[in-house]
Amino acid sequence: MTEESVARAHDALVEVLSPGQVRRDESTRESYSRDESDAGVFPPDLVVFPESTTQVSAVFRTCQALGVPFTPCGARSGKSGGSLPLRGGVAVSLERMNRILDVSVEDLTAVVQPGVVTGELMRVAEEKGLFYPPDPNSWEFCTLGGNVAENAGGPRALKYGVTRDYVLGLEWVLPDGEVLRVGRRTIKGVAGYDLVGLFVGSEGTLGVATEITLQLIPRPRHVKTALVVFDSVHGAARAITAVLAAGILPRTLELIDETALEAVDGRGFNFPPGSGAAVIAEVDGNVEEGLFTELAELGEICERHGAREVLVAQDESQREKLWAARRLVSRALRALKPHKISEDIVVPRSRIPDIILALKALGEELGLRVATYGHAGDGNLHANILYDGPHQRPLVETAILRMLELTVSMGGTITGEHGVGLAKREYLAMEQSEALLRLQRRLKHFFDPSDLLNPEKIFPALERS
Ligand SMILES: Cc1cc2nc3c(=O)[nH]c(=O)nc-3n(C[C@H](O)[C@H](O)[C@H](O)COP(=O)(O)OP(=O)(O)OC[C@H]3O[C@@H](n4cnc5c(N)ncnc54)[C@H](O)[C@@H]3O)c2cc1C
Repeated sequence: MTEESVARAHDALVEVLSPGQVRRDESTRESYSRDESDAGVFPPDLVVFPESTTQVSAVFRTCQALGVPFTPCGARSGKSGGSLPLRGGVAVSLERMNRILDVSVEDLTAVVQPGVVTGELMRVAEEKGLFYPPDPNSWEFCTLGGNVAENAGGPRALKYGVTRDYVLGLEWVLPDGEVLRVGRRTIKGVAGYDLVGLFVGSEGTLGVATEITLQLIPRPRHVKTALVVFDSVHGAARAITAVLAAGILPRTLELIDETALEAVDGRGFNFPPGSGAAVIAEVDGNVEEGLFTELAELGEICERHGAREVLVAQDESQREKLWAARRLVSRALRALKPHKISEDIVVPRSRIPDIILALKALGEELGLRVATYGHAGDGNLHANILYDGPHQRPLVETAILRMLELTVSMGGTITGEHGVGLAKREYLAMEQSEALLRLQRRLKHFFDPSDLLNPEKIFPALERS
């Protein structure tokens, strides 16, 4: 944008918001130019902070009238570059719309604004004896609007499913500023097309959610957590497959390989010396004795597959320290190498041991360090390629391509929960046909004919497809 057009947009936006809700200073623009994807730095020309649906709608109408691109964002914790304003323009931050509007114990529902931090809803629900299961490991800072847009998962998806399974209804501001209410606040309901299903996971490219109705469930009364330690990641992977095949469904089976362990060991939690891999297994339910039996059975299966130790957390503080270490992995890996690219692949569960072996072999062949961790119980692994600097980037690109090829060849998908955004855009055609990509582009065009909302995301550039 030229200086003149930025000034014009600034003045028009101040008119529909207020001066304190429109920023164009260097440091604010810098903060909104990046997310957690390492996919690049794209400063917006302006950042706005609407506080109501009416204001969001007014911002969209203003941007449309001026032909200025606009890109929604929550906490910018995304790992696929979804919130990056690729063409500059206006970053629309939903963070000031952060109120929990209702939590109903009778209906088992919550109504929230999009900027509510996920952990805050979890806490409020638990205080009322309820449970919001989707738990991206970023729950301490990510927002529910971002979770809905990315269809976020998390460790507990193994037993409880992902964000999509909990979204009942939405208030949806379309790119032209029109406001729709879609979905329902009942558990069942099949009237009309499933537009909620279309919105969830649309990565901020079809509109913005300004109010979200979520399903809650009763909080399980007891939770038991064990750390299972293995000599090698391959043994851990085989044990995970065996546990699930034995008919046990823990709420989490989180894998941490030796590189990820090295990154977090001693930072609030000490893993047993010489651990080659670890699995965090957690079970929940209403009968405590049953959980001990289940955990013991799980431990025996793991021991048959080479587990060295099964350590059961003795209290809530031990449990929380273990999970804090798990949540630290993504960021702690940066201490091992200055750069990392995080892949978010999923394979059918039976192929978990195969993909882990193949990823390690690939890293060795290319001379790159690969850390593998994540929600292995549902086949979703975060394979992180660690590297020293831009000179290694061509090698990293080769590694990414080979990893994704391996994943798709095993019947998997290139992203389980982080989304396509910018980071995976060029790889989507590896698993989706040209006809399917064409249909989705037409859908985007139908909702956003001027292509001003979060442009250039998800779909590969046409000339390259
Ligand atoms: C340490 C760490 C751990 C993580 N662990 C997990 C994990 O376990 N599981 C997982 O799924 N993800 C995980 N993530 C990724 C990230 O936290 C999620 O994708 C999260 O849902 C993004 O939320 P956000 O508020 O930060 O959204 P942002 O990153 O700001 O935005 C993400 C996308 O949502 C869109 N958007 C934001 N708000 C709205 C809205 N109201 N309406 C429409 N579109 C909107 C944006 O345009 C963008 O496309 C992790 C990230 C980090 C840094």
